[in-house]
Amino acid sequence: MKRTPIVAGNWKMNLLGSDVTAYAGSLAAAGPPETDLDIVLFPTPVYLAAVARAMPDWASVGAQDVHAEEKGAYTGDVAAGQARDAGAVWTLAGHSERRQYHGESNTEVARKAERALGAGLTPVVCVGETLEQRQQGETEAILDAQLAPVLAVLDAADTDTGAGGGAVLAYEPVWAIGTGLSASPEIAAAVHGHLRQALNDHCSGLGDAARILYGGSVNADNCEDLLARPDIDGFLIGGASLDPASFLRIIRLCTGSGSGPAP
Ligand code: PEP
Repeated sequence: MKRTPIVAGNWKMNLLGSDVTAYAGSLAAAGPPETDLDIVLFPTPVYLAAVARAMPDWASVGAQDVHAEEKGAYTGDVAAGQARDAGAVWTLAGHSERRQYHGESNTEVARKAERALGAGLTPVVCVGETLEQRQQGETEAILDAQLAPVLAVLDAADTDTGAGGGAVLAYEPVWAIGTGLSASPEIAAAVHGHLRQALNDHCSGLGDAARILYGGSVNADNCEDLLARPDIDGFLIGGASLDPASFLRIIRLCTGSGSGPAP
């Protein structure tokens, strides 16, 4: 099955308003990708609406996180419906920094994914093991535990509404995030194969349709080898997405349209 690759930038808690509008301008000036590719940017919530307005129509915007509840007394949080209303069409769920610094459990991540689907957002559910877990041989068990409640949500969504067909997972080994030490294509491909098998086993045929991104120190030097692997359907990129020239370079490499500098 042909799956449209995704190149997504997670800006985390970086960039100011003037930076993000200039960024959108750089993207617009570069023009759309030369092959079928979904381009997504995840700004902080305060800039979500501005980025959604400024982006060219061939790029889209997502929230970095949404709350598991529909609305209510959750000071500082963002509801999925609000993110959708502000122009988001995607949301991250369960990024390792949310799991680490905000104590998000596997169940809570699944509830967020469910809420996102209900609000018309496509969740990009992030999973990944720490270095210690990998060294202990626990990678698959950790990923299976992270995935189990999410698979139930995706399966139900697929059955009930078809929305699960838009399911996206991101394999982000914690040891590769922000370290400059990307997973090798072999390691990433093995894990992606495992995740796809889990989707196939538990989500009635969703496995072939779901896109599985890799994230963790992706840059212009390693993206082509990673994307060449059959189960790697694109990237979630942190550091190398902060500079539009670097992000555009990765986009061009992913479309096979050259490695030259950004225009
Ligand atoms: C991330 O935080 O999702 C990420 C992949 O970051 P980086 O590309 O900087 O490793």
